Amino acid sequence: MLHIQKNLQEIKRNIKEAANKSGRDEKDITLIAVTKTVDEDIINEALELEIQDIGENKVQEIQRKYDNIKEGIKWHMIGHLQSNKVKYIIDKVSLIHSLDRISLAKEIQKRAKQNNITMDCLVQVNISEEESKFGLKKEKVITFIESVLKYENIKIKGLMTMAPYMEDSEKTRCVFRELKKLSQEIEERAFPGVEMKFLSMGMTNDYMVAIEEGSNMVRIGTGIFGKRNY
Ligand SMILES: *Cc1c(COP(=O)(O)O)cnc(C)c1O
Repeated sequence: MLHIQKNLQEIKRNIKEAANKSGRDEKDITLIAVTKTVDEDIINEALELEIQDIGENKVQEIQRKYDNIKEGIKWHMIGHLQSNKVKYIIDKVSLIHSLDRISLAKEIQKRAKQNNITMDCLVQVNISEEESKFGLKKEKVITFIESVLKYENIKIKGLMTMAPYMEDSEKTRCVFRELKKLSQEIEERAFPGVEMKFLSMGMTNDYMVAIEEGSNMVRIGTGIFGKRNY
């Protein structure tokens, strides 16, 4: 508990510093505590420390933990999402960060409509084009957004990316800069109902660089809870 508190203090200091560097206020940056593999009792303790947003990358883990986590917390689906599992989380998460294909959009539309809600989504982009990463290639994003416009129960609220892990986080800067640039291009198109409100980029190793390059949503696990035991 004490170590989580200390970690959070340091992260918040860093967020403030990076936000100020890019001419913004730390309040404009949403900190998502990535709670994958973390037990519910520890999550609930952390939630006493001014965390309002938690991120998970597995549907099963959200299902397992959901009822044991205090109410009023915003859940983020940050991992690869299989279409056949959308139904299990549609009423639980407030933002899906990993929209990256039409078949998934179709399923989210169907389930959101059934639940009488609109689902906020970020389009995941694979800027670095690593084979191992999900997400659309940069060149495909605008066409993709155009084809999602017809799904009335999906609201696109921004973009998400993961940078490759680099010992020297400075080397990830160009990835974040590219995503920011892409979000500006999309903004200029002024697609009806599409907002480039969130840029979800930056993890434990690189969130300061990401914020300096315009991120306003960082996803931090290890930096808060310590190393994960898989
Ligand atoms: C695990 C994970 C994170 C957090 O990674 P850390 O390095 O532990 O901060 C962020 N985003 C996604 C998509 C993840 O799967």
